[in-house]
Amino acid sequence: MTGKAECVFCGIAAGKIPCTRVYEDDRVLAFMDIGPISDGHTLVIPKAHYERLDQCPAEVLAETAAVIGRLAGPVAEAVGADGYNVLCNNGSAAGQVVEHVHFHIIPRKAGDGVFNRWPAFQYPQGKAEAIAEKIKEKLKS
Ligand code: AMP
Ligand code: ZN
Repeated sequence: MTGKAECVFCGIAAGKIPCTRVYEDDRVLAFMDIGPISDGHTLVIPKAHYERLDQCPAEVLAETAAVIGRLAGPVAEAVGADGYNVLCNNGSAAGQVVEHVHFHIIPRKAGDGVFNRWPAFQYPQGKAEAIAEKIKEKLKS
């Protein structure tokens, strides 16, 4: 898969839409998010168009992950962050707005409150195991 005409990130990858680049190779691009949720918020994309993570071939994911790994430290250090989150939204229910797979590197500082809500709960007896069995079944197909 290559560029999709109406896709903003394909436009950025092709150099048709401007961005503030921080890293580029033949297949992967990283640039500053125009709507950051913390200083240094950076996006990493495969240049080829895939909508979701689960649609990306393994080698594309591997190349993209390698770039995320290289960039994460420098991104955090550039803004004096204590840590960072790596986030990939898939599907509108999960907050995906741009339908070209992308990974957010979000530098974090202690007490910044960026992800204040983390709605953890406890499964009732047996539910985690039942879901795990379903996942394993789906993996086989
Ligand atoms: P998501 O909700 O995971 O789809 O996030 C899309 C991200 O892309 C948002 O954080 C936007 O601020 C960012 N974004 C959208 N258009 C551009 C653009 N032209 N250049 C840089 N970042 C962009
Ligand atoms: Zn695209």
